[in-house]
Amino acid sequence: MKLLTGKVALVTGSTSGIGLGMAEALADQGADIVLNGFGDPATIAQVEKSIHARGAKTFYHGADMSKPSEIAALIKDAESAMGRIDVLVNNAGIQHVSPVEDFPIDKWDAVIAINLSSAFHTIRAALPGMKARGYGRIINIASAHGLVASVQKIAYVAAKHGLVGLTKVVALETAQTPITCNAICPGWVLTPLVQKQVDARAQSHNLSQDEAKRQLLLEKQPSGEFVTPAQLAGLAVFLCSPAADQVRGVAWNMDGGWVAQ
Ligand code: NAD
Repeated sequence: MKLLTGKVALVTGSTSGIGLGMAEALADQGADIVLNGFGDPATIAQVEKSIHARGAKTFYHGADMSKPSEIAALIKDAESAMGRIDVLVNNAGIQHVSPVEDFPIDKWDAVIAINLSSAFHTIRAALPGMKARGYGRIINIASAHGLVASVQKIAYVAAKHGLVGLTKVVALETAQTPITCNAICPGWVLTPLVQKQVDARAQSHNLSQDEAKRQLLLEKQPSGEFVTPAQLAGLAVFLCSPAADQVRGVAWNMDGGWVAQ
């Protein structure tokens, strides 16, 4: 019997990057997977194939995580298709980089909606089922930017700090239940979200891809190495295990030393 046999995990934003790594690792532990996120049909079929290859069932829902009504439908449809949601990984997220005085209002609204408010909406809707069944693991993918700030990322830093605060409130409200809520705070991970920032640096400073990556890393991440989705997923699997029953309300950084400075 694997750790999550018979359980169902919903990972928002699981068509790419960290969310896909989480979905694969939870499937490896025996969970069936509710997938969500954007992508063309071929990409989504490929993601489903990779989860099926691990012996897990999938249910894909294309809810836009900036829209509360679509999030409500995601939870309702997932519970009726798969019977339950035991593990909820709030991972969907976007970035926008700009100084505060030029920061577009629509980008502020989108970053806050997708990176912060979506977790409120999913937790609000999924918690009653977890309570009724007596098991739940809620894992919010925050960021090193949930613990410290950087310039030009006002919406992202505000959203991720907010997500760490939200995590603590949910952890306190569920403290005497078998449901835990924690945040994972990654440093730089080389996903499409970060590749855009590498490309912008390479272009604006006329650098090679390798040099742009090296500079981006060394500015913040003392290890000089990217964190991987598989490493983050290993921490998520631990948080789902009985050893983590009393890990509640933490914001656990995995960041090559970023916030130790
Ligand atoms: P990514 O761009 O590879 O993946 C983002 C996922 O979210 C995709 O599946 C995308 O389709 C989905 N998504 C985006 N907007 C959505 C919406 N409105 N509705 C539904 N799905 C939506 O990015 P990633 O780097 O894997 O990021 C995943 C999470 O990890 C984000 O919350 C991000 O802030 C966080 N994070 C990333 C890094 C990093 O270095 N990559 C570091 C710290 C935290």
